[in-house]
Amino acid sequence: MDGLYSPKVVRELLDQFGLAPLKKFGQNFLCDGNVVRKIAETGLPEEGGNVLEIGPGLGALTDALSRRAKKVVAVEIDEGMVRVLSHTLADRENVTVVHADFLKVDLPKLISEQFGDEDYYVCGNLPYYITGPIIMEILKQERLPKRLTAMVQKEVAERISARPGDDDYSGFSAQMAYFGETELCFTVPGTSFLPKPDVESAVISLELTPKFDASFADYDRVVKGLFAMRRKTILNNLRKSFALSSDAAQAVLSKAGFAPNMRAEELSPADFDLLARLMK
Ligand code: SAM
Repeated sequence: MDGLYSPKVVRELLDQFGLAPLKKFGQNFLCDGNVVRKIAETGLPEEGGNVLEIGPGLGALTDALSRRAKKVVAVEIDEGMVRVLSHTLADRENVTVVHADFLKVDLPKLISEQFGDEDYYVCGNLPYYITGPIIMEILKQERLPKRLTAMVQKEVAERISARPGDDDYSGFSAQMAYFGETELCFTVPGTSFLPKPDVESAVISLELTPKFDASFADYDRVVKGLFAMRRKTILNNLRKSFALSSDAAQAVLSKAGFAPNMRAEELSPADFDLLARLMK
């Protein structure tokens, strides 16, 4: 269906299906054609690729993606939206809508059933109440997507794309950095959504090119352990999080070449990788 992103069409569709945007599912629908097009182009840089979309809603982004994609698989939790999608995407033969909670779906099975062993991209205007868990669910996959593109709350985008030493650099930034550099692509004003969200939004993109030797599980354990008490030194965090004696923790840090009084936010992704390998 054309013009899915005009505010008038969004209102008409909701009326026609007797629906109202549900806050509990973070429903803020895109109604800005330019933004929809830019996300689709960022999310799927190569025409003819496969896309896994999270939260298609009324289908504005799904429609734009399907015009570039070989196949779009869109996972939507809300039964009302699934009914609308069977109308708005009726003429899109390369779209499969899956009615499920993205956090509960068997992702490896879905990916191999839908895409075989072909590459895929992940794209979505995420429900903001579960941004972190959704992103971590994707990053946990053995078969990673080529790129992850997501609309998130602007503050979260800044945190995710922060570099060591930045005020916003956090455990979440370090976790994402294991997979590559996250780029904050562009910000999106509240007026591009219906209803208008209370927060500003931004689109982030992460090319998934893990290059470290430690496994993500080991790296993640060290990141979480060292960021556990943000204001404390890495020595304290290492001791507490891994139940090490002071001598044992000092020995690991001196082997890595880090001063014991450093804070986790001063460590780069490569530093976490080194510590993860030493801790193993
Ligand atoms: N993609 C649409 C757009 O850009 O207009 C809607 C985006 S809206 C911010 C988020 C969408 O995610 C809603 O359709 C909501 O119902 C859906 N959603 C919320 N929680 C979900 C979950 N756990 N699994 C799958 N979809 C979910």
